[in-house]
Amino acid sequence: MKHIVILGGGESGVGAAVLAATKGYSVFLSDGGSLKLAYKKELIIRSIPHEEGQHTIEKILEANTVVKSPGIAETHPVVQQIRAKNIPIISEVEFAYQHVGDAKVLAITGSNGKSTCTSLLHHICKTADINCALVGNIGFSFAWQVAINPVDVYVVETSSFQLDDIVTYKPHVAILLNITEDHLDRYNYQFEKYIEAKFKITKNQSADDFFIYCADDDVITKHMKQVDISAQKLPFSMKQEVKKGASIKGDQMMIRIQEERVAMSIYDFALKGKHNQYNTMAAGIAASTLGIRKEKIREAVTTFQSLEHRMEFVATVRGVDFINDSKATNVNSTWYALESMMKPTILILGGVDKGNDYTLIEELVKEKVRAIVCLGTDNSKIHAAFGSLVETIVDTAAATDAVTEAFKLAKKGEAILLSPACASFDLFKNYEDRGTQFKQAVKLL
Ligand code: ADP
Repeated sequence: MKHIVILGGGESGVGAAVLAATKGYSVFLSDGGSLKLAYKKELIIRSIPHEEGQHTIEKILEANTVVKSPGIAETHPVVQQIRAKNIPIISEVEFAYQHVGDAKVLAITGSNGKSTCTSLLHHICKTADINCALVGNIGFSFAWQVAINPVDVYVVETSSFQLDDIVTYKPHVAILLNITEDHLDRYNYQFEKYIEAKFKITKNQSADDFFIYCADDDVITKHMKQVDISAQKLPFSMKQEVKKGASIKGDQMMIRIQEERVAMSIYDFALKGKHNQYNTMAAGIAASTLGIRKEKIREAVTTFQSLEHRMEFVATVRGVDFINDSKATNVNSTWYALESMMKPTILILGGVDKGNDYTLIEELVKEKVRAIVCLGTDNSKIHAAFGSLVETIVDTAAATDAVTEAFKLAKKGEAILLSPACASFDLFKNYEDRGTQFKQAVKLL
């Protein structure tokens, strides 16, 4: 019997363990840290052998195949010992994919917008009554879903870390939203390696599959000249009209795949902002390739509710709007957030900076931001970048203070935007915690 060892006991690792056990493999799960109680219970109930707080290398090297969780880097000593023994290492999406049978996989990758696009596409499929599931970073892991509730169509948010270790993973529809520098620490600080990881989403596709990509992204279009892609290519763009794919001209979106065309005003999109127009085009093309009727696509695009912590409208207090975009952990995301702002803005910015180049948002800050409230332990880079561009910059080190300070500065008819361009670990558990504390502070005003 095949023996599977799983490295990492988070959502994807435990999902893989559950799938392996369900399929009758012998399994051992090893986590160097501590397991969350809910996951531990799951392993115990299913009698899945496991360890935490250590990696017993002899037991790990007994594996026929290792399923590695996306959080574990290639440079981890245990990974290197497994490689030295030539034991195959696969990712959780690969393992799940090997057990989906005839089901279709729609995979979404990119540096920004994955969760949003994945959720929107899932919402369109649901609206069209397709038996589908949303898997990946949001909700269940792919493997877990395959184990306990297999469906006909999986809409899979697929990170570059998951793509690093695929072998046969072959999405019927692959969406590549954009590529900007991120996670370079995991790619030896070589941008090219990160780009290659993202493009692996196309590597097993064949001529009856689809590759949907952003034609306005120079990194993507340049790399496409260097790789062979067998899938049918369907671009989306705001800069040019496309024969097949989607484009936006003025306020009209047009999707053309086969005979059927979907035309829609961008003012009817539930998701606002330029970035979301890209996400909507991508999801719309994917839905069209599945043969979903245009009425259903329109209905779903209009009724979709935006995700928590992503340009989430919180409340209007005495004429001031509060928006929670805590998920914006890099400058690129904050650029799109500012781009979509229609009112003069007080921007809450800061946290752990992963090497931010703030010049990217200089123009938008000049145009739209009246004051900046820093929310972080070290705000010196923000002062240096924007000190001369905005009327006021203040420092805060807690969500409640940031909200009170911003509210003092705001005038009626203005907006307060939390879009930090930084990770949250200096003051918060994670971006969800930051967004939740922000919302609670607003409610207390
Ligand atoms: P991911 O799952 O890739 O991290 P999310 O959908 O959670 O992405 O969105 C994260 C942030 O990225 C959002 O708050 C938004 O500001 C920004 N964003 C969303 N879609 C795009 C896009 N297509 N291009 C650039 N930025 C985007």
